[in-house]
Amino acid sequence: MARVSDIYGSMVFNEHTMQERLPSTTYKQLMKTINDGEPMDLEVANIVAHAMKEWAIEKGATHFTHWFQPLTGITSEKHDSFLDPCPDGRAIMSFSGKELIKGESDASSFPSGGLRATFEARGYTAWDPTSYAFIKDEVLCIPTAFCSYTGEALDKKTPLLRSMKAIEEQANRVLALFGEPHRHVVATVGAEQEFFLISEKDFERRLDLVLTGRTLFGYAPCKGQEMEDHYYGAIRPTVNEFMKELDDELWKLGVSARTKHNEVAPAQHELAPIFSVANRAIDENLLTMEKMRLLASHYGLVCLHHEKPFAGINGSGKHNNWSISADGKNLLDPGANPAENLRFLVFLASVIQAVDDYQELLRTTVASAGNDHRLGAHEAPPAIVSMFLGDELGGIMDALVANCEYEGCEHESMDLGVDVIPSFMKDTSDRNRTSPFAFTGNKFEFRMPGSSMNLADANTIINTAVAKSLKEFADALEGVDASEFEDAVRRHIRHVMHDHQHIVFNGDGYSEEWPIEAERRGLANHRTTADALPCMVDQKNIDLFEQFGVLSETEVRSRYEVELEKYNKVMNVECRVMKRLVRRDYLPAINKFAAEIARHMSDVRAVLPEADLSYQEARLKKALNGALVINGHLERLVELHTSACSVADQQERANMYAHEIVPVMAALREAVDKMEIVVAREYWPVPTYNDILFYC
Ligand code: ADP
Ligand code: MG
Repeated sequence: MARVSDIYGSMVFNEHTMQERLPSTTYKQLMKTINDGEPMDLEVANIVAHAMKEWAIEKGATHFTHWFQPLTGITSEKHDSFLDPCPDGRAIMSFSGKELIKGESDASSFPSGGLRATFEARGYTAWDPTSYAFIKDEVLCIPTAFCSYTGEALDKKTPLLRSMKAIEEQANRVLALFGEPHRHVVATVGAEQEFFLISEKDFERRLDLVLTGRTLFGYAPCKGQEMEDHYYGAIRPTVNEFMKELDDELWKLGVSARTKHNEVAPAQHELAPIFSVANRAIDENLLTMEKMRLLASHYGLVCLHHEKPFAGINGSGKHNNWSISADGKNLLDPGANPAENLRFLVFLASVIQAVDDYQELLRTTVASAGNDHRLGAHEAPPAIVSMFLGDELGGIMDALVANCEYEGCEHESMDLGVDVIPSFMKDTSDRNRTSPFAFTGNKFEFRMPGSSMNLADANTIINTAVAKSLKEFADALEGVDASEFEDAVRRHIRHVMHDHQHIVFNGDGYSEEWPIEAERRGLANHRTTADALPCMVDQKNIDLFEQFGVLSETEVRSRYEVELEKYNKVMNVECRVMKRLVRRDYLPAINKFAAEIARHMSDVRAVLPEADLSYQEARLKKALNGALVINGHLERLVELHTSACSVADQQERANMYAHEIVPVMAALREAVDKMEIVVAREYWPVPTYNDILFYC
């Protein structure tokens, strides 16, 4: 077997390969573009393109593609071969700087939220030199941004890159105040990806899973997650094989997959990489998801990334670990004495201010039909954005607000009473698993994103909002006399903390009291996607995007429209699948079962008129009544769905789905599920939760 260090990054045109393959002047110029954002001229691009092509061909690539992330959130690619026929009948492999830098593609089939009329279908993809190119399935993939003919961003990456620039600029102003030279400042992200693996055989027989990614029906399994025996349990052999191949494939792509373990729910797992620069981390996460789906098929498995594939057991999230680093130094590292670490406190306070001020915007980035089932369902944070700081930082902040000396927090050592086990220092605070935005030692963990999401949106908002707080700090402090600097900094932090204290909540986010307390504090609580999305176009939020050149008002409005449409389309498909399944599968199955009992009863009666058939009669009545109730809900769903389809305004339509149709879908589901445990197994048309979740 190949050594990990030999295969790691072997399919990536990374800095090491660049240095090896490029003339040193070209390499230096490329690094200037990557690190300092300097524009690149065509001559340099030509040399880079040539080196990339030679490298890719050696690795067996025949095609190249501009790899981008349209507003659907998933990745897109169109393969072009390197082939260039010569007049003499032969062919050479060519790839120019122009082809590297810019691609043209028909944008008309990607969502644009009204930004592009179909007659102006032209769209451009532009190379993002800060994300490494890589080879996947014999194709050289060049990460790119995607925009319309008129220059508006049509993708997830462009605003993210713009937000990275914003936070770098403002963080450097702050660092300069602390006497530090200009640094390369980046947001860092580590995405913990949760997913389910189920057997292909079961999957194929569930139209709901195939078409919507989740089960629209299904009674709770006899055993759920109550034994807590799956979490961190031994990984089953097939899954283990899958994980091994996944690791190998990801390592080749330079994705530093590191931690993998079973999750709480049966058949649920998690994979976490070592963090990297935000835009690269997101590219890597998308690649990871793609590889998971693809490789699962090698083992007769299907990988589900939906936020809530199974009702009643935990859904899947994607924790977004976020920090900022300057030349590789983590700015959210509190150090040994955080109370005296003013620079750290400034960055910490800036994040608190950002999350509080833009809590609603942050909520919109995790709004989707799938995530609506997860947030607030006692398995993931509620739909209310709040922050957890822990005892030590909380204490420091309280002391700052109260303008008194921080007493300090005991750093205790942990002694297990067993001499052979070395003692270690205890963390100054326990973990809080219920907080949506928790400080976890030297980074923040945003836990609301759903497992299928592209994290670009969330990080774009975090970066931009933090850039704004940093800007306010720099604006206020620049020009302050050196002798007064420290006092002024403390004053600033005190004000920020005082004004934003209400977003800090260290208690149990799953408790029933919290939403009431949150409302008292004035925190937003948008329970559904339909409620959350309009916040995208609040003036305050548009202003934020425009102030930092992250999105224009037109771009924001188009994104709002795209998200609304996405939600409505998902809901529409779910309604259609539900109706189809009930009419064609579930009701006929119940009828068949009822007919069987009736037949059985009359058969018995014919030979044994005095037989006691009360049990059979009760069963029959239960089945018939079940069908009646199901039909009632079905008719109601048909009626509401038809009228939703005729509502032209997308927001109104979304409101109707969220508030009127979802409850009927739930009632219909419940009625069908009740029949699942009445009807004999052989009549039930689909594999049940017991079958799907506890395969070997
Ligand atoms: P847990 O399950 O306790 O949250 P994991 O080890 O599963 O912890 O995941 C932690 C994630 O946080 C990893 O992806 C890790 O790389 C990432 N991470 C650690 N430090 C940083 C940082 N400074 N910036 C961004 N992400 C980070
Ligand atoms: Mg985590």
